[in-house]
Amino acid sequence: MSVQFQLYIDGQFEPGAASFGSINPATGQVWAQMPEARTDEVNRAVAAASRALSDPAWAGLTASARGKLLHKLADLVEKAAPRLAEIETHDTGKIIRETSSQIAYVAEYYRYYAGIADKLEGSHIPVDKPDMQVWLERQPVGVVAAIVPWNSQLFLSAVKVGPALAAGCTVVLKASEEAPGPLLEFAKLIHEAGFPAGVVNVITGFAAECGAVLSSHPDVDKVAFTGGPETARHIVANTSKNLAKVSLELGGKSPFIVFADTDIQSAVNAQVAAIFAASGQSCVAGSRLLVEASVKEQFLAMLVERVSRIQVGAPDDLATEYGPLCTERQLRHIEKIVANSVAQGAKVLAGGKALDRDGFYYAPTIIDCTGVENADSITTELFGPVLSVDTFSTEQEAIEKANSTAYGLAAGIFTTNLTRAHRVSKRVRSGIVWINTYRAVSPLVPFGGFGLSGHGREGGMSAALEYTTTKSVWLRTSDEPISDPFVMR
Ligand code: NAD
Repeated sequence: MSVQFQLYIDGQFEPGAASFGSINPATGQVWAQMPEARTDEVNRAVAAASRALSDPAWAGLTASARGKLLHKLADLVEKAAPRLAEIETHDTGKIIRETSSQIAYVAEYYRYYAGIADKLEGSHIPVDKPDMQVWLERQPVGVVAAIVPWNSQLFLSAVKVGPALAAGCTVVLKASEEAPGPLLEFAKLIHEAGFPAGVVNVITGFAAECGAVLSSHPDVDKVAFTGGPETARHIVANTSKNLAKVSLELGGKSPFIVFADTDIQSAVNAQVAAIFAASGQSCVAGSRLLVEASVKEQFLAMLVERVSRIQVGAPDDLATEYGPLCTERQLRHIEKIVANSVAQGAKVLAGGKALDRDGFYYAPTIIDCTGVENADSITTELFGPVLSVDTFSTEQEAIEKANSTAYGLAAGIFTTNLTRAHRVSKRVRSGIVWINTYRAVSPLVPFGGFGLSGHGREGGMSAALEYTTTKSVWLRTSDEPISDPFVMR
């Protein structure tokens, strides 16, 4: 019998307008029934968030009290991490090693924003009028629609829900229809932590109805979106109706630049992590290897050897290093792009095909695109385990190739030359640069991209400010009566 999840609206759990099966990507079989939110459920969730925004049960809390609730939520996330990780692994196919460590760390994001809640200070303006006092108050931006993709949903929602609640906003969190289980389970922790009804609502449903109604809803003040660039275009079009503030965290085609002077073994291991962790289904995947031509053969020989030892297996087995893709659609997309690239002249050095086992497994793949102009695997985000290889001979060429796509999320630079590390880091067009490391994250550090990778930053103090707006308050301090009504003050 499959597991049944529920929506969480206005402090109540409910079954939704209908239910749909969620597939375990490791078996290809339905493992749980998910509740579908349609127009009525979305409208009720937004109405609940809207009411809660001015309800004294939430609006009347001090910032420190909001921080305490967030601390409690962090403790509950930490305690529930094994259960949440198991659900995420069943629903997405991501390996239990990754989901367990990531979710335990998600608690730190809530702790960080718990600490920020009472530090969102306003300011005093020394205004140029002697009989006026002017100050800026920081106020919550309002009702936030947080829309997340299927991968790393607990993490990607923590960077939205954490700062939103710290700022005093209320939230409608939309889980991806591909794998909503982890967030629907997370709703139980919101309830247990004691947030007033309506402050956080957790729903899921399909893009055309649930996503569109939510992002265009007249009572939504901010849409915090993570997903693909195509969906982002729909979100921007939808928000032309409510004129909500929008933040976009989108995909990437991140370069991984290896200079000949680096520690090659260390860079090989980092490259494996950059593209094959989470089976490449990571927005920051280092999917374009740019290796200095003089060490190409050595680097690739070591990389192919290391990749041949990756432990493919069942995602819920602790020994597994590499699991399936989340959906069959994704598997077909990758097959198509790899076939196109090969037809364009790229050479497969490892993998290049689906694995012969149940579920949606695609082999860790390396394709040499050296000398192939605009290979599809270089220009398109695959969101999968495919590494495209190209070479460079000079620092200038490395930078030009790194900046040659429309994306700009992350970049890896491997060199032991300190001055070069600074020069290249400065000129690479990406929101994150990792030097001699890759895929490191922290709640303290902003995260986001340029170009097709979106705009806005999540994580860090500046992200919390994005959930506030300022109110300028003018106080006239003179006791003299206002005389001339037709003069601008
Ligand atoms: P997606 O864009 O298909 O879906 C994301 C969310 O948007 C889902 O909840 C979906 O239901 C919703 N949605 C889809 N159409 C909508 C519409 N018209 N209106 C409103 N909502 C709509 O993304 P996905 O396939 O689930 O995830 C993969 C993508 O996410 C990749 O491009 C990846 O790079 C990106 N991603 C980016 C980051 C980042 O922080 N930059 C992190 C993780 C994933």
